[in-house]
Amino acid sequence: MYNDIVLDHFSDPRNVGEIADANGIGYVNNAADGDKITIYIKVENNILTDVKFKTFGCGAAIAASSMVTVLAKGKTLSEALEIKNEDVSFALGGLPENKLKCSNTAADALHSAISDYKLRE
Ligand SMILES: [Zn+2]
Repeated sequence: MYNDIVLDHFSDPRNVGEIADANGIGYVNNAADGDKITIYIKVENNILTDVKFKTFGCGAAIAASSMVTVLAKGKTLSEALEIKNEDVSFALGGLPENKLKCSNTAADALHSAISDYKLRE
């Protein structure tokens, strides 16, 4: 059902956990599949110097959360905002049709964390 990239990020997720001094936090609940994704970002000088996640959900949600942190880390705020839902599923080598919502949720959580950071500024 899942390809090797998805399985790799599901069984060995990158950047798991919380950032104690995060200055942006995004939370999205994908009620359709029961996925709950929280993304923590640390922004310094306009750069996402650290990105971590905590996800309760299916394998696709965990793999997508992991991938979105990899894609966003080290990017500027505007570059990170350009990471679209389809970029996450593309980077994962594709997901089953019924799991695309799960990868969308991960990108939404990243964007929500960036919005939260901007509100705090
Ligand atoms: Zn899911």
